[in-house]
Amino acid sequence: MPRKNDLERKALQLVFEASSEGLLQSDMWKALGVTSREGSRLALKFEEKGAVERRKVLHNGRWTYKLFSQTKLVTLESIKGCPCIVCEDLDKCFEGGQISPLNCQPLSLWMVPSTAEEDA
Ligand code: SF4
Repeated sequence: MPRKNDLERKALQLVFEASSEGLLQSDMWKALGVTSREGSRLALKFEEKGAVERRKVLHNGRWTYKLFSQTKLVTLESIKGCPCIVCEDLDKCFEGGQISPLNCQPLSLWMVPSTAEEDA
């Protein structure tokens, strides 16, 4: 029997790999080799954490749930222009430090470009 964290990781991976098709909750617990009760518990836990969306679907004449991953892939495009990439203070920047991403203006402006443009 896989460890709890391994089981959760594997379950999330299965849902992620199902992409936009979604994964029947029953297919998840069957693939994991756990009971339907354990599979339902995992799916509910993932939903609570926002890791998956559970959608009620009619499958073979029965109501069940399909699971959709809420994990988004990080793409190079998504970090394009981030000031941290070329920042000279990157190695000294950390939460609670003298230099911190929590009070970095360049980072704030990059994260909310439309607001920055409106303020300019
Ligand atoms: S948060 Fe600001 S100071 Fe920190 S690494 Fe990024 S750009 Fe540099």
